[in-house]
Amino acid sequence: MQYSQHASFSAGGRQTFLGGTSQQDAEVLSPAIHGRDTFAHIWAGWAGWRVVLMVFVTVFLIQGLLAYNMLQAYAAEQLAGLRAVAHAAILPVVNDIGVETPAAVERDVSKLLHHTTIRGFAVYGMIDAKPVYRHGLLPALRPVKNRVYHKSAYVENGSFYDVIYTPSEIGQPYNAAVRLDASDVVRNVTAYGQRALEVILFLSVLLTVILIIAMNQLLLAPLLKRNDRLLEKMHLQAEDKIYRLAYFDGLTGLPNRTYFLENLDKSIEQKAYGEDGIIAVLSVDIDHFKDINDSLGHEVGDRLLEVVGARLVKALPAEAVVARLSADEFAMMMPMAPEADISVLADRVFATMQDPVEIMQESFLTRVSVGVSRYPQDGDTAREILKNADIALNRAKNEGRGTAREYSQDFSDIVKERAQMVRDLRKALDEKQLQLFYHPQFDIRTGEIVGAEALLRWIRPASGPDGGSQFISPAEFIPAAEQSGLIVPIGEWVLHHACARAKAWRDAGVPPLRMAVNISGVQFHRVDIVRLVEDVLGKTKLPPEWLELELTESIFIEDAQSAIDIMDQLHQLGVQLAVDDFGTGYSSLSYLRQFPIDRLKIDQSFVRASLMNLNDRMIIRAIVNLGHSLNLKIIAEGVEMKDHEDLLKEEGCDEVQGFKYSKPLPEDKFLEFVETYNENLANSKKVWMVE
Ligand code: C2E
Ligand code: MG
Ligand code: MG
Repeated sequence: MQYSQHASFSAGGRQTFLGGTSQQDAEVLSPAIHGRDTFAHIWAGWAGWRVVLMVFVTVFLIQGLLAYNMLQAYAAEQLAGLRAVAHAAILPVVNDIGVETPAAVERDVSKLLHHTTIRGFAVYGMIDAKPVYRHGLLPALRPVKNRVYHKSAYVENGSFYDVIYTPSEIGQPYNAAVRLDASDVVRNVTAYGQRALEVILFLSVLLTVILIIAMNQLLLAPLLKRNDRLLEKMHLQAEDKIYRLAYFDGLTGLPNRTYFLENLDKSIEQKAYGEDGIIAVLSVDIDHFKDINDSLGHEVGDRLLEVVGARLVKALPAEAVVARLSADEFAMMMPMAPEADISVLADRVFATMQDPVEIMQESFLTRVSVGVSRYPQDGDTAREILKNADIALNRAKNEGRGTAREYSQDFSDIVKERAQMVRDLRKALDEKQLQLFYHPQFDIRTGEIVGAEALLRWIRPASGPDGGSQFISPAEFIPAAEQSGLIVPIGEWVLHHACARAKAWRDAGVPPLRMAVNISGVQFHRVDIVRLVEDVLGKTKLPPEWLELELTESIFIEDAQSAIDIMDQLHQLGVQLAVDDFGTGYSSLSYLRQFPIDRLKIDQSFVRASLMNLNDRMIIRAIVNLGHSLNLKIIAEGVEMKDHEDLLKEEGCDEVQGFKYSKPLPEDKFLEFVETYNENLANSKKVWMVE
């Protein structure tokens, strides 16, 4: 299979890799009406029946109109026939009136009434319209004096049809009115109408069906087709969207964790790396990304992530997959030959990060840490391999960042040991296995003890197979406590205990000593340290100026603005603030001006190296000068020899702390030490004064 960075979003393309996941989801999203049942669906609906009804009524009415006209014509034709027959029948009789005897006329008319449709016959004078002769039923229509109406009309509810013939029609000086039996005509017209209605109904149904079919084919079908295409398009778009959301990162456009893991599992399953090839997995993390994000804003952070993502894609060949797993964590996978040198990949990553990143006219030098693991050596599943790459990454970060580490089984052992240590430490806190030792601090000029640093000690009771208790160095367990968050309750305990001691000593008449307590960066940012200190001072009744908090430089780097705010508030409480291990951190001296600091604590590594290395001595000198120019006191730790002390005195350092004077001591020993030391100091002063 292909490791394609530029994943295709077409339905076909992704089908090869992801099966039907997205399609199923998309169907839920867009329940499209599909072709075959479309028409039935529409005609079965309420709107469909209305259309059918409308078409039918329209067709019916049009035909009805036509049929009505035809019926009229038919009726007229029938009547014309009736009239013609009557006309022919009455002509001989009319001619006989006045010529033949009345009896003969009577006889002829009787015949007429008997053999034709004529049921009544009347003759009127032309001028005065008076009846001249009449036989049978009297027609309702009659001519009006001096005016002749050529009229005909149905009478008596259509049973009869009366007609008036004018003198010109009958060729005699009379008007003749005839009552005709119209029942045949009515019957014929009614039958004609009934037949027409039947035909109309039949034709209406037929035409409606034809029209509806034509409408479906010519109008609806193309419309629905277009609609279907539209729905299909929406369907595909929805699928694409779901697919993108499920498998890609919105910011960088890179595949996400799910995609990465599925892809890795799939390539393991399909042996995409060749029969005996391997897959290298790199876990990449941007150093101090959180600081950049917090201090410069998310916009800059986002942009940086985009640039780093794009550079990582460029760093490896096209068959590599680069994904963004979480905030600033990226992962890459790359099939390789078994004999290939994996470290080349990390080198490529570092090389692409060499140029500064330009964001909003600012230039950033970005460093990354890399953890490497490989299939099949470091795990059977994608999750396991990625987890091990992460373990290697953590190792790289702990070892100073900006480096790459390849996973080894030892790392896992270390991780397991650390997890065990955290469990034991939690127990130690509950079971009061933790103690504080005190390390005295001296004024370098007067020699007086001016303070004590509280240092945590953990003596783990009978845990090993030899049954002896075990001393665990804070350098070992403090990082574990920080990582697990356990430093928060431990830190609280230390602060409370140290302040309570300091107050007890003052109450017991011990000369006033400043109590220095170490505060971890995790503790500083994670808890409301101001409230905690206020609370502890309130409870222990220790005057705030006798408490000093030792902070490390990392605190300022992580979130400078909030660090300044918190330190300001602490300062307002009256406690003193020192920067511990000064010079080892980010060496950005410029921040010192902004922070309310009282004391810089030169890291012991400089003191230790100062006798041999001129550079370290220069650093001490620079720190002292800078500190003094900002009105800060300078204390040096790690003073083990008289030469150290002399050098520090020469460089203008104010205070010292170190094994030359004493090791950190448990409380009782510390108090003994203070007493004897002060006695000796007083005696030496006396000797000096006597001299
Ligand atoms: P730190 O705060 O820099 O403490 C000074 C460390 O240097 C102590 O080590 C002390 O014993 C050692 N030291 C001082 N002078 C000399 C010397 O002349 N020679 C030598 N070889 N070492 C000297 P320790 O007690 O092992 O503590 C190590 C670190 O653990 C501390 O460094 C501090 O960062 C951390 N730590 C200790 N206690 C606490 C605590 O209560 N809270 C927190 N957050 N961290 C603590
Ligand atoms: Mg310290
Ligand atoms: Mg230190």
